[in-house]
Amino acid sequence: MKAQRYDYIIAGMGCAGLSLAAQLSAAGLTRGKKILLIDRERKDVNNRTWCFWETQPGFFENIVFRSWRGAWFHSSSHSALLDLDPYHYKMIRGLDFNTYCLKMIKQDPAFEVVHDEVISIHSEGEVAECTTTHDRYEAPWIFSSIIFDKPAILPDEYFLLQHFKGWVIKSPKPVFDPAKATLMDFRPSQQKGTTFVYVMPFTPTEALVEYTLFTPSLLDDTSYDRGLNNYIREHIGIEEWEVVEEEFGVIPMTNHRFPKSHNRIIHIGTAGGMTKASSGYTFRFIQKDTAEIIRQLQKTGRPERSATWAKRFQWYDSVLLNILHHQTLQGDAIFTDLFKYNAPDKILKFLDNETTLAEDMKIMWSLPQWPFMKAGIAEALK
Ligand SMILES: Cc1cc2nc3c(=O)[nH]c(=O)nc-3n(C[C@H](O)[C@H](O)[C@H](O)COP(=O)(O)OP(=O)(O)OC[C@H]3O[C@@H](n4cnc5c(N)ncnc54)[C@H](O)[C@@H]3O)c2cc1C
Repeated sequence: MKAQRYDYIIAGMGCAGLSLAAQLSAAGLTRGKKILLIDRERKDVNNRTWCFWETQPGFFENIVFRSWRGAWFHSSSHSALLDLDPYHYKMIRGLDFNTYCLKMIKQDPAFEVVHDEVISIHSEGEVAECTTTHDRYEAPWIFSSIIFDKPAILPDEYFLLQHFKGWVIKSPKPVFDPAKATLMDFRPSQQKGTTFVYVMPFTPTEALVEYTLFTPSLLDDTSYDRGLNNYIREHIGIEEWEVVEEEFGVIPMTNHRFPKSHNRIIHIGTAGGMTKASSGYTFRFIQKDTAEIIRQLQKTGRPERSATWAKRFQWYDSVLLNILHHQTLQGDAIFTDLFKYNAPDKILKFLDNETTLAEDMKIMWSLPQWPFMKAGIAEALK
C-alpha cells in the first residue's frame, strides 16, 4: 500500500495537536500546504477542563469560560485569600476548546481530518511515516502527541500520578462566591498521601469541585466519591446537591525526560515533556511550546525548537518529586510554607518556570531547608 503524502501530519488531536493546528492556521503557515490531522476520537465530548493562569489575553481568550483574580489557599494550619494580580486564573472547557479549533480547521482548506487508530510512527532520512489501522501516511514532519507505551522509567527517575475526580455540582442555595476560586485546599485527610481539593465557582449555586491526589497509584472509585462527598459537606457546608457533570483524570508526574524529537518526528504535548513534573500543569506549557514551533517555522522553515525553559526548573521538579516519593516531608506542609511565605504572583511565575534565579532563591529559602538541601544534592549528583 503506497503511503499518502502530506506536508505535515499532526497525530493526536488533543490539547497539543489542536493548539498547533489552530495556531499554524492563524499564523498563515498553512497556506499552500497539505496537512493531515489524525485521532481515533471525534473530540465531541466535554471530558476535561483546563485551568491555567496568564497575565495577558492568550490565543484562546475568546473561549475562556470563567476567570478569577482572587483565590483561597487552605491547609490545616494556614488559610489565605490570595490576590493573583497581575495573573488571571482561567478555565477553558474541553468541548469549547475542541469546537473552536475544529471550526478553524474546517475553514482552512489545508487540513484534512482522519479518524483512525495510529499503530506506529517512525522516521528515516528526510521522511516520517504514520501507519494507522486502515492506511499509511508520510510527510517531511510528523507532530505527535501520542504516547504508545508508558515510558521506561529509569531507576533514578520518579513516576507519581496526579489523579482526580471532579464534579460540577448545583446547590439548591447560593454558597459560592463566583469571584473567588479555591486553588488548593489541603484540609481533607492526608492519610492516602498528598490530597487536596480545588473549587472553581461558576455562579453562586454552581461550581466544579475536584478531589486530587499525588500518589504512586490510583484509588478505588468509591474513595474519590467519599472524598468529594465529605468535602462538600464539611467545607462547602451543604447536605444536598446535584452532580451535573463528572470528570476523572490521571496526569503523570515524572522527571523522566521525554524526547522532544526523533529525526523528523516532533513530540508535542505531554509526549514532548510539556507536563510540569511537580504540578501536572500542562496547558500553558503546550501554548508556549506551540508558539516556539511557530516561531521556528517562520524563522527557519523547520519546526525543531530549543529548550523552552532553563534546565534548573527540571532540577526543582526532581527535588520536589524526590521529597514526595521518599515522603521526607508531607505535600501539604510544603505547599503551606510556599503559600504562607511567598507572594502569589511569584508562586505562579515560579510554577510557570519563568522566575529569575534570585526569585527562585527567595522561594527556596521559604521551604524547610535541610530536607530540600538533602534532596537537592541527591538530585544534582544523579
Ligand atoms: C481530566 C484532565 C484534566 C486536566 N486538567 C488540566 C488543567 O486544568 N490544567 C493543565 O494545565 N493541565 C491539565 N491536564 C493535563 C493536560 O493539560 C492534558 O492532559 C492535555 O490534554 C495534554 O494534551 P496532549 O495533547 O498532550 O494530550 P491529549 O489531549 O490527551 O491528546 C492526545 C490525543 O491523542 C489521541 N490518541 C492517543 N493515542 C492514539 C492512537 N493510538 N491513535 C489515534 N489517536 C490517539 C487521543 O485520542 C487524544 O485526542 C488535565 C488532564 C486531564 C486528563
